[in-house]
Amino acid sequence: MSQNEEKSLAKNGEIELVGVTKRFDEVVAINDMTLKIPAGTYCCLIGPSGCGKTTILRMIAGHDSPTEGDVRIDGRSVVGLPPVKRGTAMMFQSYALFPHLSCVDNVAFSLKMRGMPKVERRKKAREMLNRVHMEQFADRMPAELSGGQQQRIALARSLVTDPHVLLLDEPLSALDEFLRVQMRGNLRQMQKELGITFLHVTHTQMEAIAVADLVVVMDHGNIDQAAPAREVYFRPRSTYVARFMGGQNVFSGQVVAVNGKVAEIEENAGGRFTVPVQETAVKEGESFSFAVRRDHVEVEKAADDTVLKTEETNAVLGTVGMTEYQGTWVKVTVEREGAESFVAYIPDERFFAKPVAEGDRVIARWSMEAMHPLVHEGDEDMSRLFGEDFNPGTV
Ligand code: ATP
Repeated sequence: MSQNEEKSLAKNGEIELVGVTKRFDEVVAINDMTLKIPAGTYCCLIGPSGCGKTTILRMIAGHDSPTEGDVRIDGRSVVGLPPVKRGTAMMFQSYALFPHLSCVDNVAFSLKMRGMPKVERRKKAREMLNRVHMEQFADRMPAELSGGQQQRIALARSLVTDPHVLLLDEPLSALDEFLRVQMRGNLRQMQKELGITFLHVTHTQMEAIAVADLVVVMDHGNIDQAAPAREVYFRPRSTYVARFMGGQNVFSGQVVAVNGKVAEIEENAGGRFTVPVQETAVKEGESFSFAVRRDHVEVEKAADDTVLKTEETNAVLGTVGMTEYQGTWVKVTVEREGAESFVAYIPDERFFAKPVAEGDRVIARWSMEAMHPLVHEGDEDMSRLFGEDFNPGTV
């Protein structure tokens, strides 16, 4: 691809959903959604099964139309346009390669459909194979390739029509863990090189934050938060996002006092907390939820008769329910009577210098900087996401 071509592609691929609602009879799959994805963004749509991710991809691709609202690509409404006129391409999780066609013919297929002469389309397909580092496999059949190689052929096939937007529906879910991590890096690299918009649907939180510039967390046909990966993970907006994305513990209680930018919170289980509240107007007597970063929680063994000092805040007593070695850190789940269990990620060396074990009585502490307020939205029933036995320690 020439520099000029790369430059012109870099300006393309802006997606806008404007007040989009999609109904299937009684089911509201998408509910008045407005979202702008800037050109050249790697965007991940994440949310539980049935929240409407695929419906969004299908409306952008042209396989479905909104019941209300507008879908725009590069400023132009595409509602009613057939898929081939939208400048989009789609890559599915099954890859859907034609088993009877060689790799180069698989890649060239859509150019054939568009009437491009054989020599020209094969040349273009080989260029595309070159871009995904698969030129040496051009004459192989799909069955003679590994899963990762098939994925790259599928990617080349999607990109051969020079789309401005690539829509990827769970592109990595058919791969084993090792390949998945490798391939997500390849996707990110390809997106950067091409400078087009990738819109990638996934169920996997770590996949979304690893690749995306913009993470869109969905729930029930609504967007709960759309922000850069680090913000969604470390500054979740709501109790729902905090729980769904992981990496955080959620505590709830009542506001008992507000001192400037600090709210004092008491929970039914006895914990007392001082939470920074710059961004939220809070009043005494209100219920209040906040998140605590799991990697900022310190856990220390405590004697059975330990009680918290009355002046001590941001500390709770509990019992270790489980420890799980995760390499760089150890995941310690702490159970509490009358409250949700919570999790601490303790760096490996620190944990083994002073280990705790299942059944140990512990005191957990964290600093004010590890906490931030949450709005109650979309999490009226987390058990529907994680089953009746929902326990944040298992996420
Ligand atoms: P998953 O992660 O399981 O693929 P999703 O987030 O992609 O789920 P969608 O496939 O977009 O969810 O579905 C959103 C809602 O719309 C669901 O309640 C689904 O049952 C409903 N739905 C989707 N397609 C249709 C259809 N053609 N007819 C009726 N209902 C539909």
